[in-house]
Amino acid sequence: MNLGRVAEKLGITKERLQNLHDAVVKQSSWPEPRLLRFEKATSGIEAGTVVFENGEIIYGYPKIRRAMMLGPAVEKHFSGVVAVEEKMNGHNVRISSVDGDVVALTRGGFICPYSTEVAQRLLPEEIFEEHPDLVLCGEMVGPENPYVPKSIYPTDTIDFYLFDLSRKNCKSTLGVHKTHRFAEDHGIRATALLGEFNKDKAPEKIKQIVKRLGRQGREGVVIKDPDNLAAPLKYTSSETNCNDLSVAFRYYNDYALDFFLSRAIREGFQSVEWKESDDERRARALRLGESILLPMVDTIQRKQAGENIAQKVQIRVKSLQTAREFEYHLRRSGMRAIFDQPEPDDDGYLVRITKLVMSTNDKTQALLEGETW
Ligand code: ATP
Ligand code: MG
Repeated sequence: MNLGRVAEKLGITKERLQNLHDAVVKQSSWPEPRLLRFEKATSGIEAGTVVFENGEIIYGYPKIRRAMMLGPAVEKHFSGVVAVEEKMNGHNVRISSVDGDVVALTRGGFICPYSTEVAQRLLPEEIFEEHPDLVLCGEMVGPENPYVPKSIYPTDTIDFYLFDLSRKNCKSTLGVHKTHRFAEDHGIRATALLGEFNKDKAPEKIKQIVKRLGRQGREGVVIKDPDNLAAPLKYTSSETNCNDLSVAFRYYNDYALDFFLSRAIREGFQSVEWKESDDERRARALRLGESILLPMVDTIQRKQAGENIAQKVQIRVKSLQTAREFEYHLRRSGMRAIFDQPEPDDDGYLVRITKLVMSTNDKTQALLEGETW
């Protein structure tokens, strides 16, 4: 790889790129194609940015900031009309074709072998033949998403929903309308566009939308400037905040403290902004409290009964090689998981995976035996 040329394209000096090497920029030689991966954001380059061996760059998907107080945040952040899209709960992928092969990158800039197989299965090949420079940004969701399994979407395995388009070597994205038009033209799914509202009416509309999504167990919304002039904001339902908390408390020692705190705080701001009645506030308190206590009690009781604390997920693959590669991919991402023998299935294999949550497992055992906190 010609570092001088790569640095020039990234808009930094060759010396800077060399200095970043190892600390921030990591090399990955598996699976093919080889690439450089920005592990952290630096010099205006998003985390997850990838430079392939052929010199092509795919920039990281930008962080989306969160509104805590919906009304004031929308007022402060946007200028005229806002577009409201459903925020789907799965994992972020950037899909593109590199030297003729379709690959799916995770948020952090790894090629995920499972997501890649899914992308190759779901996306018409012509997309990348017609547009070799295109990067499809979207969410993979469903019960057979091994990172974030969710049964709330209309699929019994895993599906892909487009929410943005970008181009290789280009930091910007094409925006809401081009994205939805593209999805329609190519017969692929896109995250639902739930409406466009004048910003003075938007907070009340979004509140109604988020409440409805919450009742369906869905995550929330991403609020976008239809002309892509301001960065998007995200806002989520109480049900999803609580659901995240219940997963995190089930595996309480394997999550960072901020994960718990930030979700609890969201509930406080939402309750105040929506001027809840005493009854509504009590219902929220019950939901929040249950999402903390019940999964935690379940974990402690399971451990008490001698069970191992683990999370079961599953994937469906066309080739055994994808399963093996995904196993290796999880391991290199620092996750410990046990893969069962693949079970032959209609048109491939079902693979059951047990993700070990060692820290919660060991901590709970120790505390049960009288260890102090
Ligand atoms: P962030 O992406 O803001 O750094 P995060 O990684 O914790 O935070 P989330 O809190 O899930 O992720 O919020 C942002 C993510 O939401 C995006 O990276 C994307 O994967 C996902 N997403 C789901 N639906 C949409 C949508 N309609 N538009 C944009 N992003 C969406
Ligand atoms: Mg998410």
